Amino acid sequence: MNWLTTQSGNRREFVRDAARWALLAVVAAVSALLAATRGVTLPNPMCVNKRICSGCALFAKCELPAALSAKGAANRRGT
Ligand code: SF4
Repeated sequence: MNWLTTQSGNRREFVRDAARWALLAVVAAVSALLAATRGVTLPNPMCVNKRICSGCALFAKCELPAALSAKGAANRRGT
């Protein structure tokens, strides 16, 4: 392998890596845009109130199973 082929290989790798990073940036930007415009919220990773949803400050926005169950029960009761 001479100098010229080594350089062109490096150039190809550079262009390939740059394209990958550009694609990653586009995917991240589109994901952030969709999350921002559609109001997507990530679920709370942990319950902060021992799954006692009644009176929990996070209840309105919480998407943990206990909160969803409590919201479903409240809807069935009509409250
Ligand atoms: S709403 Fe319920 S599940 Fe969500 S954090 Fe509060 S207690 Fe935990």
